[in-house]
Amino acid sequence: MTVRFLDLASVYAELKMELDAAAERVLRSGYYILGPELEAFEREFAAFCGAKYCIGTGSGLDALILILRAHEIGPGDEVIVPCHTFIATWLAVSQCGARPVPVEPDEKTFNIAPDLVEKAVTRNTRAVMPVHLYGQPADMDSINMIARKYGLNVFEDAAQAHGARYKGRRVGSLGDAAAFSFYPGKNLGALGDGGAVVTDDESIAQKIRFLRNYGSPKKYSHIMKGCNSRLDELQASFLRVKLGRLDGWNRKRAQIASDYMSKIENVPGLLKPFVAEWAEPVWHLFVVRHQDRKALQDHLRTDGIETLIHYPEPPHLSGAYSEFGWKAGSFPITERVAGSIFSLPMGPHMDGKDVEEVLKSICKFVTPLNPDSSLRSNA
Ligand SMILES: *Cc1c(COP(=O)(O)O)cnc(C)c1O
Repeated sequence: MTVRFLDLASVYAELKMELDAAAERVLRSGYYILGPELEAFEREFAAFCGAKYCIGTGSGLDALILILRAHEIGPGDEVIVPCHTFIATWLAVSQCGARPVPVEPDEKTFNIAPDLVEKAVTRNTRAVMPVHLYGQPADMDSINMIARKYGLNVFEDAAQAHGARYKGRRVGSLGDAAAFSFYPGKNLGALGDGGAVVTDDESIAQKIRFLRNYGSPKKYSHIMKGCNSRLDELQASFLRVKLGRLDGWNRKRAQIASDYMSKIENVPGLLKPFVAEWAEPVWHLFVVRHQDRKALQDHLRTDGIETLIHYPEPPHLSGAYSEFGWKAGSFPITERVAGSIFSLPMGPHMDGKDVEEVLKSICKFVTPLNPDSSLRSNA
């Protein structure tokens, strides 16, 4: 491959001195869990998000689960989730014993459609969990308005959107609580698993602090049935180094996106991403659509350009959710999207030459003749 989809080794190479120094500092300190690096990172990341509290967790999935548990959401409750998302959003709801209620996306933004959220509310609905998918903020004002009307909580799944802004405000501060993932490939990634909850609610923050650590406010006192899900000192020290680079990396992603947006031309049937006027995305992924996606992906692969699909199988059609009996056709918008999307290489590992390679290859793609190969335009 000449242009890799993602290259984490090159990110390590760029920061080697600082990451090695951070690791050595932690290894020598003798504190490996719940120590000063985590405290410092939690302060710094809360400030970055414009929120009061941050609680580091073992993963993004755990951050979502802990938010739901802290709000006492469980059996008999329903949580509205995007139909088109990474399955973790749904799994968090299921793990708490509650029921995920899928809502179709707005086909332009790929994010949960607010007018359909309202239609999905029932007597059992407790919360809405919008995802800022691909780094594009969801329409939070509309979602918050519906939530207020029905007395629901709003939890952001911000796992793909560290630093994204909605009407000038950072995601993570737009609902009752937000979950982030620091999986290595995310915009802010650890060198292992990690996650965090961000919130302005002091009592929820406190409860999550206890829950992530065996329900324990102090050693060997257990006031609730907690779990073990802590962001460790080593990962926290790496994340502190990388947090200092995040805005710069996000600007680099935005530059690549802007090149793709303005310079991909004359590819019949290709739909580029749509950016709402109130959105400042962080381009976790650059997702395009084409009715003949396989032909276009094959063409790019022949030119040494790696592409991926996020995600080919919607959760409702996965084996994990067979219990609900959903079939092909149950959620047609999601299925149409999932059947035509794919992601171009995107990330701070790319240089100008890589972007040129992608542009050169994609602009010379000739669409195979197919009378049905038209998608509804994003215009
Ligand atoms: C990555 C991701 C998660 C889960 O994060 P992990 O750290 O892998 O547990 C949740 N939601 C979305 C939308 C994600 O992309």
